[in-house]
Amino acid sequence: MTFATLGLIEPLLRALEALGYQTPTPVQAQAIPAVLAGRDLMAAAQTGTGKTAGFAVPLLQLLTMEGPKVTANSVRALILCPTRELAEQVHASVAEYAEHLPLTTYAVYGGVSINPQMMKLRKGVDILVATPGRLIDLFRQNALKLNQLQTLVLDEADRMLDLGFSEELANIYRMLPKKRQTLLFSATFSDDIRLLAGQMLNDPLSIEVSPRNVAANTVKQWVVPVDKKRKAELFVHLMRKGKWKQVLVFAKTRNGVDALVDKLQGLGINADGIHGDKPQATRQRALDRFKASDVQILVATDVAARGLDIEDLPMVVNFDLPIVAEDYIHRIGRTGRAGNTGEAISLVCADEVNMLSAIEMLTRQTLTRKMEQDFEPEHRVPDTDASGQVVKKPKKPKKPKTSGGGGKRNLGKWVESGEVAAEPSIKPVRKVPVFNTGPRKKK
Ligand code: AMP
Repeated sequence: MTFATLGLIEPLLRALEALGYQTPTPVQAQAIPAVLAGRDLMAAAQTGTGKTAGFAVPLLQLLTMEGPKVTANSVRALILCPTRELAEQVHASVAEYAEHLPLTTYAVYGGVSINPQMMKLRKGVDILVATPGRLIDLFRQNALKLNQLQTLVLDEADRMLDLGFSEELANIYRMLPKKRQTLLFSATFSDDIRLLAGQMLNDPLSIEVSPRNVAANTVKQWVVPVDKKRKAELFVHLMRKGKWKQVLVFAKTRNGVDALVDKLQGLGINADGIHGDKPQATRQRALDRFKASDVQILVATDVAARGLDIEDLPMVVNFDLPIVAEDYIHRIGRTGRAGNTGEAISLVCADEVNMLSAIEMLTRQTLTRKMEQDFEPEHRVPDTDASGQVVKKPKKPKKPKTSGGGGKRNLGKWVESGEVAAEPSIKPVRKVPVFNTGPRKKK
């Protein structure tokens, strides 16, 4: 299959060719014809699957071929993203795909001055990429009208709900014209996402591309048990031992990011950090420098790093395990992309055993544990497996009362990682009368 056989117009084919896209990815092969046919879409696909082109390319074609010219302060297509970085990234891709088309594109998000954004919107924009909060601000200040909207894209919808944007989404929903095309992309399909889809989508086509397999098959994953207080030391040790060149490191909190960056910089290591407390320009600069290999270690919280596409990233380190098990899949999905292989290492302390267990249950695999010499934890990480069981006190074999063998510390168990099962199929969308505005799991 080629992009031409999907019915794309020449200027788009030329742009894709220039980007080196030869064949459509599975999500593109399914999404492009459906979007061109005007269908609503509910797609289970995460970053790394080519989903951005999956929605943006046919969207650009529709906007070129159909609909009136954009009027002042209006937008014809709106792409909602959970984070500023993702909004920038999606916009950069859209602008590349639109290179030979007579369409305007723009991205708006918080953390930067609103005035230039208001100015830019005056003439109207064909495709606007936005984070929910800033979109609402612009709308309330009459800088933006949505009556010309033809298509709405919800990108990483699950993450928008995780980040507490459900109220904003409900507000945006009320601002939208009834007649429109809606495309929803989400890595996971929780009940809340289904509620959202039931409200926003009309007879959607479901697409699924088993993203979990995509990530897991190309990413070598393992766990290094360690005491909490020695994590930074272990990280530096592993980094030097493995001669790591470019590593994206995930820490749980903003303070955790800052502490690790300080520590690494103190050791003369070229590290920088991104998290929600930092100004947008600083975040973007750190990210750009990391992508350009000017920064070796980028330490990030989940919020800041979600959805980032960094070419050929060889290694992801979970300095802390994520509280939400789904985030593990997103994190390791930063590496092993586009057919490359990658490594994902998690430094796990005893406190995190329940998170480890949740991750293993979700990904249906028991992660290999590799004990690092001289870093064996004093607080043992209890055994876990894909069944979700945490073995707090492993049964000790009845030992004969002889010398030898006693007194040895349990250095943890080595378990080979199994295959990851495919993501469960998407259940049909439920139509619900009321928009769910509550935070996740609060129903
Ligand atoms: P995405 O999942 O949209 O973030 O895309 C992941 C990466 O795959 C990006 O770097 C895209 O430029 C790249 N990509 C998307 N579609 C294709 C394709 N058909 N062929 C080659 N690379 C692609």
